[in-house]
Amino acid sequence: TVASSTSADLFEVHATTSPVPDAQRAELLAAPKFGTVFTDHMARISYTQGEGWHGRRVEPYGPLQLDPATAVLHYGQEIFEGLKAYRHADGSVWTFRPHANAERFARSAERLALPQLSEADFLGSIEALVRTDAAWIPTGDETSLYLRPFMYASESFLGVRPSLEVEYLVIASPVGPYFSGGVKPVAIWVDQEYHRAGAGGTGAAKCGGNYAASLLPQQNAYEQGCEQVCFLDASTNTYLEELGGMNVFVVRADGSVATPPVSGSILEGVTRSSILQLLTDAGHEVCEAPLALADLRAGLEDGSVTEVFACGTAAVITPIGRLKSTDFDLTVGDGEAGAVTTRTRAELTDIQYGRATDRHGWLHRL
Ligand code: PMP
Repeated sequence: TVASSTSADLFEVHATTSPVPDAQRAELLAAPKFGTVFTDHMARISYTQGEGWHGRRVEPYGPLQLDPATAVLHYGQEIFEGLKAYRHADGSVWTFRPHANAERFARSAERLALPQLSEADFLGSIEALVRTDAAWIPTGDETSLYLRPFMYASESFLGVRPSLEVEYLVIASPVGPYFSGGVKPVAIWVDQEYHRAGAGGTGAAKCGGNYAASLLPQQNAYEQGCEQVCFLDASTNTYLEELGGMNVFVVRADGSVATPPVSGSILEGVTRSSILQLLTDAGHEVCEAPLALADLRAGLEDGSVTEVFACGTAAVITPIGRLKSTDFDLTVGDGEAGAVTTRTRAELTDIQYGRATDRHGWLHRL
């Protein structure tokens, strides 16, 4: 991918006069807890209807001042993305399929009646920020710089209509390995009461409201001794959709692999699509088709389903060792990470960290 396809050079850099001192940064980078440590700067672009996007800049990381009538605080007109910058052994820095995130951000913007940000600005803002804060990219095994682009309705107005003013920002957070003690299977609560998204709703968009709606079910899952919740389709309460922040896959004893289709109510994960490709490359029969909970239960009971895993940018692939709900409690296989799950996770992280050939051209150099 050529550098000229981004607007990075258009960003005016206003460097902080009080960066985190080197020694303190080194300490923060040693063991960052997910989403708690942020770099010295943030990238920003403002939008005003009539004028379009303006004021491309990198500025010191810091609080936003919001009028109490700011539209996002009342009606939740907001979208975000999540991707990572990886440092390879030779020191070079790469993102993974950022065009896919740019496209998904554009689709989310459309659904939330927010203005479109060009792919050049999406990539340019990330490039400008990561260049400025390159010292914040950790170097340890399975560490990365998590990037969070987001856009919100910034107009002070209490009428219910799309905001005429919008702010777009990118913040960055160094993250350590998701599983500090090695990859461990999680228990999933299959929610048969609450839904995350319905037909015609916002499930396919990455907007804050979807996550707000998942918090109570997630809390219930914790109370049931589960780490995550899996939602069923809102129309029939029959088919698996996805987890609160990850897509889901099922591996069968015959080597075939299945994942729910992107029906409009689930988020089209970049990790999901990459795994579909890697599994196809490895000779698995892959199938995007509705996955009935009843079939999954039967498959776990008779041994025809051998592995279940979840996937997303943050944890890459998380083995699912147990599925629980109001009327069942099932162990997946022997409760440990299965062979396909483990191998696919290694294949994907090997590409992301530059240890394997990037045969699909997924890496984008920053
Ligand atoms: N589903 C939901 C609801 C998510 O929030 C995420 C994380 N973005 C995913 C799936 C996985 O998407 P990705 O692989 O692009 O991170």
